[in-house]
Amino acid sequence: MTHLTRQELQQTHCFINGAWMGAGQQLPVHNPATGQLIARVPRCDGTQARTAIEAAHAAGTGWAATPAGQRARLLRRWFELIVAHTEELAQILTEEMGKPLAEARAEIGYGAAYVEWFAEEARRIHGDVIESGRPGSTFVVVKRPVGVVAAITPWNFPCAMLARKLAPALAAGCTVVAKPAEQTPLSALALARLAELAGVPAGVINVVTGDPVAIGAQLCANPLVRKISFTGSTHVGKLLIRQSADTVKRLSMELGGNAPFIVFDDADLDLAVTGAMHSKFRNAGQTCVCANRIYVQAGVYDRFLEKFVARVRALTVGNGLEAVDIGPLIDARAVAKAALHVRDAVDQGARVLVGGGAHALGGNFFAPTVLADVRADMLITREETFGPVAPVIRFESESEVLAQSNDSDFGLAGYFYSADPARVARVAQALECGMVGINTGLISSEVAPFGGIKQSGYGREGSHYGIDDYLSIKSLCHGDL
Ligand code: NAD
Repeated sequence: MTHLTRQELQQTHCFINGAWMGAGQQLPVHNPATGQLIARVPRCDGTQARTAIEAAHAAGTGWAATPAGQRARLLRRWFELIVAHTEELAQILTEEMGKPLAEARAEIGYGAAYVEWFAEEARRIHGDVIESGRPGSTFVVVKRPVGVVAAITPWNFPCAMLARKLAPALAAGCTVVAKPAEQTPLSALALARLAELAGVPAGVINVVTGDPVAIGAQLCANPLVRKISFTGSTHVGKLLIRQSADTVKRLSMELGGNAPFIVFDDADLDLAVTGAMHSKFRNAGQTCVCANRIYVQAGVYDRFLEKFVARVRALTVGNGLEAVDIGPLIDARAVAKAALHVRDAVDQGARVLVGGGAHALGGNFFAPTVLADVRADMLITREETFGPVAPVIRFESESEVLAQSNDSDFGLAGYFYSADPARVARVAQALECGMVGINTGLISSEVAPFGGIKQSGYGREGSHYGIDDYLSIKSLCHGDL
């Protein structure tokens, strides 16, 4: 198997119709830990996006007609190349995004798992035969690829969020134009380079980097694009829904979250503290499923805080290329948002138990923070903070905490800890969200459906459900011959 060096993997051109090409203008990519310029990539606009769409469309017929077994083998080869390049991909990811190397390696493994999974699912696309109820006719239901897919992804998981879209799209027989976040284009380009090496035909995967507004407008308006799969903020998701109305596209929307994390009096407290650490501080709190509001029942409130604060104090912060627990936030805007949420809470009576603002390292580093005595009406419980800030809210009863948890426009993930089976059954049903962690802070896997309800979006990624988002159902009515 060919092995590329990190330099060979770090592409700085966009990838259209199997060719690596530039654009007149360039977009700088910075390391959020040091502020240093890492690379410049093309600042594409609507023109390059249109070329990429046309290339994807032209490749579509051949790719859809490629036998499923052959598509599966190519995906499998791509999976193996991703796994073999874990270290190089993780280095690129940490440099452009900031997360600790250990987390970057885990993300590569997690992204690769989706490619492996959908390599297997490619061979299991099948339809139905339905008796018509009318003499002399039968319905045959088949599934067809939806066509050209635009995949728009965020910076917080630059490898996994794209792999989660490319893999089911290719497995279904769709071709793709990917637009990675402007902060983190290098991971996407590296994935495309490995797909090229695996033998994925020209035009099946295209990657355009650059101006999100101009590229987004083209992806939404162009009738050749039949589906948009978006992961990112609810604000941009709504814009894409509006912009896609005129061409009536299929949409998958993986949007923002505001996950409640509930610890009941009967919970295993050590387990709950460990779960809260994972759920809150992974990726410096920059995950859509991270615990945004931690509700702790009155009977264990003080003990939970004592154990939790001790664990948070021990977290190390620094450049993700060193052995640290928490890297920088993505940029100065993210630091300002976390600081605003802390200030608003403290002004209204919350107590800072650890951290509380920018980290002594300066730059984009934010101190891991725990706030006690937070209330429902504070900004920090209403909005996604996307930083290493844990607001802890005391509650008395199950009904009170369920009402507060569900009082949100978002519905992506929710977590709770309880040892009472009857309560587990009740609360799991009552939480209004797409995914529930029950006595665990880790809920994401390629074998399970990932996605939200309410303004967290619609569509599911992963599992056997995930491929349906890339398939259209066609009904063939056969009369008697
Ligand atoms: P964002 O919405 O700002 O950007 C996401 C992507 O949209 C980027 O590629 C960006 O360039 C692009 N974009 C921005 N404006 C656009 C436009 N006008 N047209 C087309 N594309 C445009 O989000 P972000 O800050 O990169 O990511 C953080 C957000 O993503 C958080 O809200 C987080 O919860 C959410 N997220 C959700 C999931 C999920 O699965 N539900 C997963 C990860 C992140």
